[in-house]
Amino acid sequence: MSARVLVVDDIAANVRLLEAKLAAEYFEVMAANSGQEALDLIDKQTPDIVLLDVMMPEMDGFEVCRRIRANPRTRFLPVVMVTALSDQADRVRGLEAGADDFLTKPVNDLALFARVRSLVRLKMIMDEWRMREQTSGQFDVFSAEAEPSEEEHQGAKILLVESFAPAAQRVASILAADHDTVEVATNSAEALQRAAKGQYDLVITGLQIGEEDGLRLCSNLRSHDETRQVPILLIVDEFEMPRLVKGLDLGVSDYLMKPIDANELLARVRIQVRRRRYQDRLRANYERSLSMALTDVLTGVYNRRYALRHMEGLMRRVADTGKALSVLVCDLDRFKQVNDTYGHAAGDEVLKQFAQCATQSMRNVDMVARFGGEEFVILLPDTDGDNAVKAAERLCKKVATSPMLIPEAPGGNLTITVSIGVASTSKPMSGEELIKLADAALYRAKQGGRNQVCADPSALLVA
Ligand code: GH3
Ligand code: MG
Ligand code: MG
Repeated sequence: MSARVLVVDDIAANVRLLEAKLAAEYFEVMAANSGQEALDLIDKQTPDIVLLDVMMPEMDGFEVCRRIRANPRTRFLPVVMVTALSDQADRVRGLEAGADDFLTKPVNDLALFARVRSLVRLKMIMDEWRMREQTSGQFDVFSAEAEPSEEEHQGAKILLVESFAPAAQRVASILAADHDTVEVATNSAEALQRAAKGQYDLVITGLQIGEEDGLRLCSNLRSHDETRQVPILLIVDEFEMPRLVKGLDLGVSDYLMKPIDANELLARVRIQVRRRRYQDRLRANYERSLSMALTDVLTGVYNRRYALRHMEGLMRRVADTGKALSVLVCDLDRFKQVNDTYGHAAGDEVLKQFAQCATQSMRNVDMVARFGGEEFVILLPDTDGDNAVKAAERLCKKVATSPMLIPEAPGGNLTITVSIGVASTSKPMSGEELIKLADAALYRAKQGGRNQVCADPSALLVA
């Protein structure tokens, strides 16, 4: 994976060293010698990741990181702080300033490359979700933009995989500060089983689970659909570096060195939990927008765009099988009066209940769609004109004889009626054309006094 890396360090020799190492791994490298220069560069040619020195004159790394996070355009840019400091307090300060990771000089090359790869991969996934959310948001009446900062990190549900009870106890007691619920699995099989069902915000594991290989667990978590998305935090010993690198390449989200520092553990868990919840919300918004692009928000039945698209497929089937396709165009009678008399909310309720009634009285294969206002179209595949007229008459009668529950109406009941036009074809034509024929029949039903069914003449010829 090629990625563009920005190296920021006030000491030119450090920049050149990192530059050489990264270039040898085929990363594209940009360099800046001060915080301000870095911010300017980021603004002009967005890198995929920033390696940021902490100790710099004028503007230190913490401040640069905070500014990157404060800018909406760069809020999601991965930042790894690189420093000679090994003080835990500084690590935590870096994480709280918004850094994704903290590496200590001299930087272990393998860890660095693996980290860069895993953060760039994560950025690509998140970029994709954000883009989908934005695209689908354009379809909608509202776009609930997901802001990551709103995400709560407290009260997370965490699965801790640890065979040694006192170690599990220590981690749990640290996380109690955030009111997280920690459940413990003592072996890989148990961990996998629980993770698949448990809806965890995070899985924490070591590289060794008793006699078992923790990386195998990580790999299994990543390969199952139910657990593919759950973040994994790996707890490692310094000497386990090569295996940590493997873990990062397997898709582990973050890691923590032993001995465990309480504040660092809390900071890293918070980052993962927030990110997880943010991603969940992006996905939920996307799925909701997707369903909104297909369905009518008020009534929940399909919308016009979807029904017309569906008709293209149904017409192809007509061409293949010669079986008739019928459509009913339904228009509620004197609906304007309902609005005028009982209010718009009552009108909305009538539309909802009509949609329900229509859906219930049709077969599962039939499709009910709201075409706009108080007009609904029902598609009846493999149905000839006679049967379509029968179905229409059944619906018409059912509506006229089933009062709707409308609180605004006297006695809470309101009876409405519907007029229906029917058309059928056993020869392929455009969906609009068939609907036009049904529309003409509907017009005659209205002219004829409403609360009735009229069929296009062709409907009665199609058998
Ligand atoms: P007809 O029997 O000839 O069909 O008369 P009608 O009153 O049903 O027909 P008309 O087309 O004159 O009025 C339709 C009304 O439907 C007008 C519009 O305000 C109302 N309407 C359209 N969409 C909605 C909606 O989403 N909710 C509500 N409550 N009313 C709607
Ligand atoms: Mg009407
Ligand atoms: Mg109308």
